[in-house]
Amino acid sequence: LKAKQLAVIAKEKEDVRLELAVATDELARKEKLAVIGKLAGIMGHEIRNPLGVIRNSIYFLTMKFKENIDEKVKRHMDILQTEIDSCDKIISDVLEFARTRPPSFTETEINSVVETSLSKANIPKTIKVEANLGKSLPKINIDIAQVKQVFSNIISNAIEAMPKGGELRISTSQTDTFISITFKDTGVGIPKENIDKLFTPLFSTKTKGLGLGLAACQNIISAHHGKIEFESKKNQGTIFIVTLPIHKN
Ligand code: ADP
Ligand code: MG
Repeated sequence: LKAKQLAVIAKEKEDVRLELAVATDELARKEKLAVIGKLAGIMGHEIRNPLGVIRNSIYFLTMKFKENIDEKVKRHMDILQTEIDSCDKIISDVLEFARTRPPSFTETEINSVVETSLSKANIPKTIKVEANLGKSLPKINIDIAQVKQVFSNIISNAIEAMPKGGELRISTSQTDTFISITFKDTGVGIPKENIDKLFTPLFSTKTKGLGLGLAACQNIISAHHGKIEFESKKNQGTIFIVTLPIHKN
């Protein structure tokens, strides 16, 4: 009996240790997010303004020398313009991430949110999209803009995972209490060693990636009392599943 009791105590101790570890990880993640948020605010104000000034100067110079501008100078003006746009995009991404506010819920048909996210995505011709949207799904309470952001992030990740083309299948379905939205790609997949890092802010395997997409998705979905999960096989593809509750209490 004593051995049994000891085993139970040991098990309880282990459970508490695990819970503590999870809570500590979550706290570290939240602190990291707060720091990024502050930094993003500074970037937004301090870098956007000078960028705007540079943009105006380029415009002025281009206008001034419109008629007799040398080909080479014109090419460099275009480079400046493109690079400014790319800085601007980075700032927008970071700000979008940092500004995540509590959701403002509206009764919504989830399929329409999937459809707008898809229509806004920049899908290359080499990628075939198939949408299999459940019929007569109940409306759910969501923040439309935020959930759209989640779907767009997952869709762009899927596209980026299929540089040589492939297939993206999106479907929606329901159980008694949840609506699930799945995004299945036939892309590069996720290597085992990265599985635990995916939702960590600033984790990215891309040269131009910020690594904020999935961290933002997770914040948004957890504020909706939902779940975001994935399964992946290297070189075969990945499936992301977002689950949202039908009744919000
Ligand atoms: P980013 O897209 O800026 O890299 P994310 O947070 O959106 O940041 O994604 C983090 C990382 O997760 C990506 O760099 C990539 O390695 C991996 N990832 C996300 N979605 C997929 C996917 N569908 N297929 C393969 N890898 C993915
Ligand atoms: Mg991304």
